[in-house]
Amino acid sequence: MALDLLDRLSGCSIMLFEEYWRKRDFGKTSDPRGKLDEKMGDIYVIQKHQASHLHYDLRLEKDGVLTSWAVPKGPPTKKGIKRLAIQTEDHPIEYANFEGVIPKGEYGAGTVEIWDKGTYNIEKWRRYEIIIHINGNKLIGRHCLIEFRKQENAWLFFKC
Ligand code: MN
Repeated sequence: MALDLLDRLSGCSIMLFEEYWRKRDFGKTSDPRGKLDEKMGDIYVIQKHQASHLHYDLRLEKDGVLTSWAVPKGPPTKKGIKRLAIQTEDHPIEYANFEGVIPKGEYGAGTVEIWDKGTYNIEKWRRYEIIIHINGNKLIGRHCLIEFRKQENAWLFFKC
């Protein structure tokens, strides 16, 4: 984890949000441009994103970025609900506060609003398996993210 962060700090920052930057025209859209945040934080946020398809973006602060997933059917609000979560490109930390309208023609065009926000703690964070404790208003408690072995970027998100 620390090594990964060092790696990112030592000259790789130009690549850091490569995919995020490639998708966006910052002259036209108001989403933050972003830079690496060096503090170790614990932000948890879910943004409701009314784009061409309504989805919810789960973001967890990890190693200076927001690790992100799009949850098409919405967050699991009670035990027993398992939701598909597609991992998307890392977002800048400041994106956690972003709400607004992404203009037509721009990436993710539509409305972004914060659906839930708080902090989280890590119980386990390894390949294929993330167990966290969420301290939000709508999501509270132990949640699991389990990655499919045969389908890249596809995870199941549920209360566990
Ligand atoms: Mn989105």
